[in-house]
Amino acid sequence: MKKGLLIVCSGPSGVGKGTVLAKVLKKNPNMQYSISITTREPRSDEVEGINYFFKSKVEFLKMIDADEVLEYAEVFDNFYATPKAYVEEKLHEGKDVVLEIDVQGAMQIKEKMPEAVLIFLAPPSFEELERRLRGRASESIEVISRRLQDAHGELAQQDKYDYVIVNKTVDETVKEFMAIVEKEKEKRK
Ligand code: 5GP
Repeated sequence: MKKGLLIVCSGPSGVGKGTVLAKVLKKNPNMQYSISITTREPRSDEVEGINYFFKSKVEFLKMIDADEVLEYAEVFDNFYATPKAYVEEKLHEGKDVVLEIDVQGAMQIKEKMPEAVLIFLAPPSFEELERRLRGRASESIEVISRRLQDAHGELAQQDKYDYVIVNKTVDETVKEFMAIVEKEKEKRK
């Protein structure tokens, strides 16, 4: 059977990756979302095994040592990683797999799996990103300020991606995202 397409999606915190990907996944039953592992504390609305697999630092480091992750990175003082077995299994089943990961992780994937498609979601402007992040009630002012600072660094690296989509409206972005996936799948036929 033909292997599925590996899709990496990055973008600064608050750009709307979660909302866009939820819609894309709903429209594509053949697409699977890879749930990451993190050492970050769960937010009030997050569920173990749905948003993330929440681990202690010790458990996380054990997984790295055992070579159980495809990539990992430290983001905002917490560790994040993509579990290897799940992604490989789904790709072999012919499913397309989406990784929602940061720029450091995306570059590791590009190195290891050059056939992956890298998509960057950018905000229409920095002011709009700030407005969206501040509207997220679940985080403290310190965390939001830190994320805004780091957004500059992420935005500066968007040219390392195969595609950049400016997330003006969710529906337009979803359409563009799906068009890219279709085009890339066609190329590989
Ligand atoms: P958050 O804490 O807001 O859920 O995520 C913070 C950042 O970590 C986001 O940029 C997100 O894309 C990134 N991230 C989430 N999971 C992973 C992962 O498995 N690997 C890497 N490298 N980054 C991740």
